[in-house]
Amino acid sequence: MVDRRHWLKGAVNAALAVSAGPALVSAQAAMRDGQPAYRRLAETGLLDERIEAIAAQYDQCRLCPHQCGVDRNARDTGLCGATARVRVYSHTPHFGEELPVVGRRGSGTIFFSHCNLRCVFCQNWPIAHAGRGQLVSDRELANMMIDLQRRGCHNINLVTPTHVLPNIVRAVGLAMRRGLRVPLVYNTSGYERVEMIRLLDGIVDIYLPDLKFMDGAQSERLAMERAGDYPAMAQAAILEMQRQVGTLVTDDRGIAVRGLMLRHLVMPSRVAGTREFVAWVAANLPLDTYVNIMPQWRVEHRAFEYEDIARGITVGEFLEAMDWAREAGLTNLDERAVAAEKVYRRRLAS
Ligand code: SF4
Repeated sequence: MVDRRHWLKGAVNAALAVSAGPALVSAQAAMRDGQPAYRRLAETGLLDERIEAIAAQYDQCRLCPHQCGVDRNARDTGLCGATARVRVYSHTPHFGEELPVVGRRGSGTIFFSHCNLRCVFCQNWPIAHAGRGQLVSDRELANMMIDLQRRGCHNINLVTPTHVLPNIVRAVGLAMRRGLRVPLVYNTSGYERVEMIRLLDGIVDIYLPDLKFMDGAQSERLAMERAGDYPAMAQAAILEMQRQVGTLVTDDRGIAVRGLMLRHLVMPSRVAGTREFVAWVAANLPLDTYVNIMPQWRVEHRAFEYEDIARGITVGEFLEAMDWAREAGLTNLDERAVAAEKVYRRRLAS
């Protein structure tokens, strides 16, 4: 007789074994039938199994690299501060994300409260650090997804999803039965366990991770003390994301259908390790990987307490980052970053 816990363990192992092989659907295949990955996985009968395997993580939470081991179903909290009940700050069409996910009708963003990385310079600190938001049921979360699709959004953009993955996948299952058919965007800080990302193979179409730091001493200092392994964890997760979905594929309107979109925020005093970042991308990912080198650093939250980051970035710091990216051979840089670069270069030349 196999009890539920053992069955779920088997399901996790089966899912991981599946994920060790080639990606379930190629970008070209996704384009051909116009269906998001989770609908295709449901057709194979594997989606429910995968949802159960992910949901089982709440029993002894090991969803992220902190591996707290707490029982979140019993309302215990780990380092992220969240129980098994999901809290949402907002759900709305958003036009501030990268152009391929925004399209013409917006990206359907759902902002989750709490975070498992909590940087000292967080721009969303009332949501991520203080946990502002409303408790919602999985059914209500599914309703939000349907609502965003009804409002014309091109995708469901899950902002800071790592610590509430079980609620998300259960809600996707419910929403799919009610007609959800836009792709999921997994919008993460990058602080992920690769084992969990493998469980998302065939569920997520578009990965939008940050790679914030290249030096563990900086992530320990400027994110969480126990996040010194951030560079290694994020890099392993990104390689798995790339394996699953490949480089970015857009439709004939330029809207993202499937693929990896990588973000890196330029920080003052080179603390983000931007030169190392572009070198790592060039050495480990296709040169046409979509990369957004972001100039929108702001001194937020507790950043003013750290002398080396308590200022804006200079034009020189942003332009050197773009130069390094080109020198490394990266060919698919975010359109708005390139536009900002042109403006700054023109100003410098005048
Ligand atoms: S998701 Fe939260 S409780 Fe779970 S391992 Fe990460 S920090 Fe700990």
